[in-house]
Amino acid sequence: MRFLEEFRDPAMASLIVHRIHQLVTGNWVLMEVCGGQTHSIIRHGIDQLLPDSVELIHGPGCPVCVTPTHCIDEALALATQESIILTTFADMLRVPGSHDDMLACKARGADVRSLYSPLDAVKIAAENPEREVVFFAVGFETTAPVNALSVLQAQALGLTNFSLLVSQVTVPPAIEAIARAPDNRIQAFLAAGHVCTVMGSWQYESLARRLAKPIVITGFEPLDILLGIEAALQQLEQNAARVENQYARYVDRGGNLQAQELIQKVFTTSDQDWRGLGILLQSGLTLNERYQAYDARKRFALDVAPAARGTRCHAGEVLTGRIRPQQCPHFGSECTPDSPLGATMVSGEGACAAYYRYRRAAAVHNV
Ligand code: SF4
Repeated sequence: MRFLEEFRDPAMASLIVHRIHQLVTGNWVLMEVCGGQTHSIIRHGIDQLLPDSVELIHGPGCPVCVTPTHCIDEALALATQESIILTTFADMLRVPGSHDDMLACKARGADVRSLYSPLDAVKIAAENPEREVVFFAVGFETTAPVNALSVLQAQALGLTNFSLLVSQVTVPPAIEAIARAPDNRIQAFLAAGHVCTVMGSWQYESLARRLAKPIVITGFEPLDILLGIEAALQQLEQNAARVENQYARYVDRGGNLQAQELIQKVFTTSDQDWRGLGILLQSGLTLNERYQAYDARKRFALDVAPAARGTRCHAGEVLTGRIRPQQCPHFGSECTPDSPLGATMVSGEGACAAYYRYRRAAAVHNV
């Protein structure tokens, strides 16, 4: 199969579902790591096609969702400074901070702009030499290369008014933390195909060995996901635990070396706070010694108080698969996409947003 439509073929989907039902003898719990996969699963009802003994748990692979409240508060602190143009991806605008969100801040007059790329922020910096331009750089290994490139481009242009507020995370430490949690029930992982397009499959080989769990690199179309689930279940039924690449049309073992070089040139690994997971060792990327001049935290001496604990949002439990969105007491009542209490209801890849969009009627019916 080579073309997108072929990965949405209902007849082929039925065939794979049939094979899965024939294959399964045990009770198995799988986590799809990426929020894009979650949306595809819920949208197409893939979880409802599986045997009752197979459970899918939704993972933390939504970059907007895992950005901690403290970083949102830092972005808000920057946005309220008159000299600053704060730029970011559109999904970030409505993520609640401790007391505010960027859209409300913009409505009160702050210069907050949503962009498709940090390279557009570099352009804005070049066009506005009298202003400071900060790009709120969030995301996984997929966004890190272009965020790195923006720094190199600003440097090449001699811009001294461009910086990044970095909240970059990397996937393998999150998988390891979830798998090693004392109450973990997950027996296999569907890894995020687009992250592996950048980083390759090799990163997951030692992880699968250490965790003794299958990791299947999986895409986002319905057949990609069904094939990923089938491969993971085959391993579980055979008591195997290896990395398998079900997204070979885009992923190879080495990944995109140019993109990896960009990441290595500009960033260094660091401990990182994740919403829902807490601080994970060596799970983030920060600007390395050579590019400190582009670090907004240093440039503006940011000193924002730690975010208060005890928010009403249960996103932490959703992001670690401890509850499903409809089990949150605020789902669909106090918390909706128009009036979100948490990031997982705002983001295009958030699990709460997926259930609200595709399963709300069922949730209301079941209450
Ligand atoms: S439904 Fe809303 S309050 Fe509940 S976990 Fe999701 S985002 Fe948070």
